[in-house]
Parts: sequence; C-alpha cells; structure tokens
Amino acid sequence: MASDLEIARKATLRPIQDIAARAGIPDDALEPYGKYKAKIGTAFVAEASARPPGALVLVTGISPTPAGEGKTTTTVGLGDALNSLGTRTMICLREPSLGPCFGVKGGATGGGYAQVLPMEDINLHFTGDFHAITSANNLLSAMVDNHLYWGNELGLDPRRITWRRAMDMNDRNLRDCVVGMGGASQGVVREDGFDITVASEVMAVFCLAKDLQDLQDRLGRMIVGRRRDGTAVTARDVKADGAMAALLRDALSPNLVQTIEGSPALVHGGPFANIAHGCNSLVATRLGLGLSDVVVTEAGFGADLGAEKFFDIKARMAGLSPACCVIVATVRALKMHGGVAKSDLGREDVAAVERGVVNLARHVENVHKFGVPVVVALNRFTSDTAAEVEAIRAAMARLDTQAILCTHWGDGAAGAQDLARAVQARIAAGAARFQPLYPDAMPLADKLRTIAREIYRAADVSFPAAVLQKLARWEAEGFGHLPVCVAKTQYSFSADPTALGAPSGHVLPVRDVRLSAGAGFVVAVCGEIMTMPGLPRRPAAETIGLDAEGRIDGLF
Ligand code: ADP
Ligand code: MG
Repeated sequence: MASDLEIARKATLRPIQDIAARAGIPDDALEPYGKYKAKIGTAFVAEASARPPGALVLVTGISPTPAGEGKTTTTVGLGDALNSLGTRTMICLREPSLGPCFGVKGGATGGGYAQVLPMEDINLHFTGDFHAITSANNLLSAMVDNHLYWGNELGLDPRRITWRRAMDMNDRNLRDCVVGMGGASQGVVREDGFDITVASEVMAVFCLAKDLQDLQDRLGRMIVGRRRDGTAVTARDVKADGAMAALLRDALSPNLVQTIEGSPALVHGGPFANIAHGCNSLVATRLGLGLSDVVVTEAGFGADLGAEKFFDIKARMAGLSPACCVIVATVRALKMHGGVAKSDLGREDVAAVERGVVNLARHVENVHKFGVPVVVALNRFTSDTAAEVEAIRAAMARLDTQAILCTHWGDGAAGAQDLARAVQARIAAGAARFQPLYPDAMPLADKLRTIAREIYRAADVSFPAAVLQKLARWEAEGFGHLPVCVAKTQYSFSADPTALGAPSGHVLPVRDVRLSAGAGFVVAVCGEIMTMPGLPRRPAAETIGLDAEGRIDGLF
C-alpha cells in the first residue's frame, strides 16, 4: 500500500470553484487561496447558515491507541460514501496543528483513500488561521506586559497573570520561562510560559464564536489575571479585544477544500480535546448544515471526552441537535483493551477482542445517555481476521447496535457505503432526542460529579480544598452556569492511562480548575495534562524534507 502522501499526490485535484459549485457556494462568495483552497465570504456564510439545517452526524471513537483509530479517516470516508449515494453531504474537520505533525502522530487529514487535499498545505500553513490565532494570543501577552511596564493602572498582580504566550510547535523548553529580564529599561520581570496554539483560549473562542461580533465579545471576556484582591482583569480591561478581533477577521471565514473523491470539506479551527472542547469551528458547522442535507464532523479523542464535550459544550451552546453518532472502533485497539501487548496486536486473538469489547460497549451506552442513536464503524486493518470482526458484531448485536465493517481507507467511498446506508436509515428514522447530560443550573462540582459517574463510571471525584474554593468564587462571580470541560487522558475512562477496558469504581482526581470565561467553560484538570507537548526521541520532523523537484516528502 502506498503512503498517505503518495496516494494524495496521485489524486487529480479539481479547481476549488468546481467544488464550491457542487456545495452550492457561488463564485462571488469564494476567496480563493491558490487553486485548491478558498475561504468563504462572511456575507454568504451568514445567509447560508440561516437556512434550515441538515442532519448533524458526529464521528467519535473508542478509547484509542496512540496511533489513532481512524476517526478523521472515517469522517472523510463516510462523507464521500454519502455523497456517492446521492445525499448532499459536507465534511467538517479540524485544522491540523504543527505540533503532532512534526511529533509522533503525523498530520490530521485522514488516510489511505479517505483524505482531504491538498494534504501538504492543510497540514502545514494552510490559509494561515493558526498563525493569526497565535498572533492574537501574543498581542494580548504583549499588551499585558506593556500595561505593567507603563505603571499598571489596572493593578494586575504580576504573580497572578494566567494569560500565557502561544506557539504552534511542540517545544518543551518554553513551558515555563521568565520574561522581562535585563534591567530597568526592559519589561517587568515575571514568570510566564508558552502553550501550543491549539491549547490557547483564543482557539476555543474562535471555534465557539457565532460570528465576528460574538468573537470580539468572547475575546473581551477572557481573563488575563487577577488583582491582589482577587478580582479579575479581562482582555477588554487591557483594551486588546478589538485588535485581536481585527487580527482574526479573515481567519474566521471557513476554509473549503476537497476530498480525494471530490467531496466538499470545511476544514476550520482546531482546539485541543483536553484543555478545550476538541472540534471544528461552529461557524463552519453551521455553514455546512445550511448548505447540505448532512454534515459529518469529528470530535477528538475517545467518546468519553470528544463526544461528551461536543454534546455538553458545543451542541448545548449553539443549540445543535445531532441526529446520529458513529463510534469508530478497531480490532487492534479492542485487543489492547482485552490485555494484549502492543507487540502482539498483529496476531489473531478472538478471546482478547471479546474481553476488550467492553470498552466499545460502554461508549455506546454513554452516547445513548444523550439521546443520540449510534452506529459502530469497524475501521478495517489488513491484519484483522473474520473471526475477530464477527466477535465485535455479535457483542454489538447483543446491545441492539449495528456494527458495520468499513474499508474506506483502502477502497474510498465504496468501502463506507454500508455505513452510509445505516446512517441514512438512522437519520430517516428521526429517533434522536438529544439532550445534554446535565442542566446549566447545576453547581459546577456537581456537573463534574455527573460526568465522572455517568460517563467515566467513577465512584466519586476528589476535590482539593483549593479547587472547591475556586469553584465557589466563580459561582459567586456569575460563572456557575458554564459547562465543564474535563482535561484527562484519552486512553482510559479513568484518569489512569494504563487502566484499559472498562474500569469502574475509581476516583477521579481533580488537580486544578481553570476558568475559560471567553470560551465559556470551566476546565477541570484531572491528571498530567500537557498544554505544551514535547517532541519524541525520533520526531517525524527528522524524515520530512523536499525531493529533487521541490515537493514535500515524509509527511504522513
Ligand atoms: P484519528 O482521527 O482517530 O486520530 P486518523 O483518521 O487520523 O485517526 O488515522 C490515524 C492514522 O491511521 C492515519 O495515518 C491513517 O492513515 C491510519 N489509518 C486509519 N485507518 C486505517 C486503516 N484502516 N488501515 C491502515 N491505516 C489506517
Ligand atoms: Mg482525527
């Protein structure tokens, strides 16, 4: 099998105007970035987003292995398959971050014959959105430090500044640093640090904003730090919100690209799935819903994190109502959940699959708690055997859930048509009765307990006294109605990444809580969460380069 990049290179790209026409986007609404990428103008976005919405299909997954189980690949394959069956479908994905691209995981444009193109562009600078977000983040940092330098009229406590600088790179050396050194003519010395751009609150704000005005309002509400008396200082207080919004204006227009099979795809925004909610921009999702009968979109990490946040944060805030949820599973990951070592995953082991399927079964049960019907997509790898696949199908049948074998990675749209038909049937049946897991009015600590008990099946949550104090303060300040965004490992239902399968009865340890007042959620940090990842011993960057013709090599 050829590499993702080799397959992508062999594809014949159509002019972006043709793709736009197929999606019902007129030429004069297009702002082309070269031949194969375009942003879509604000006026058309507003008009099309107000049309009656199509059906929303969320693609999520089981608790994954570090390689990923194929959610992006399946989102693309399912979108292509629906289009091939005559259902007008828009694919909505996140923009990739340079961190994982040069680190372990590689790019995030799908794989095999289910990819969005041009993959080199999308994985690297694309239309510059992440650069704009990085600039907006760092403009705020510069204005905060400048405010301290010129006398600190707002009375910010330099020790309580929580706003950090950002860069779209895995660079552990910048996690914690001291800024302003060098004497009286320099800035005020204080501790600072960098987060990867996708972990910046600006990214979360960007992805939850309804429009440019809402973007500026949310930016203004972001808290940069506190005074000695504990009161908050916001981006609006330092008068940074307007200039930040100006920097982000063009970026907020969704990006149109195409799949290998010529389906339209909106690739826009890309927040982390731990410290933020982990799905593409609301602006793009709404546009997709206005333009098509079906939108297929992906939420990051496993369903305990990605789908929960999609439902409880994005869908709740935006009034979206998902019609169907696809849970992607792989034989190899279920074998791992059944206790097989990474080195033995290639060998047939039906008993291990049967043990590991408890992980998938729990994700299915969890999604049902939101009132959303489920179809399981078995993303086929060449090493899977018929007996292993049958074991999963049988276990799902016992839960009244269809599990469908998919081969879109190797076969493109044709390999996901059975899945597409099952999704069409769910949408036509109209059985979804979407509701978030908890009401807005529930106290913050109880929201967290509800997620822990209902979704992670924890016995309880442990709150340090300092965390409870912060939650009480935010409730008093008027933030008690916000949803909770849990930052925990994606590898387990618990906070322990080695507890595979379907652990229960554990205690969820909350180490810290953070208020994202602009994005509109409270982050609960459970376990070691990296907001600035590092590179591995052998980063993917070592094998990326240019060939004799100047083409990019080694991206995957
Ligand atoms: P996720 O979105 O769940 O993290 P991706 O769709 O990005 O996962 O896939 C991760 C990697 O696995 C990609 O490099 C992709 O090419 C590869 N991959 C996905 N599905 C298959 C498959 N069925 N067989 C082989 N490789 C696959
Ligand atoms: Mg993905």
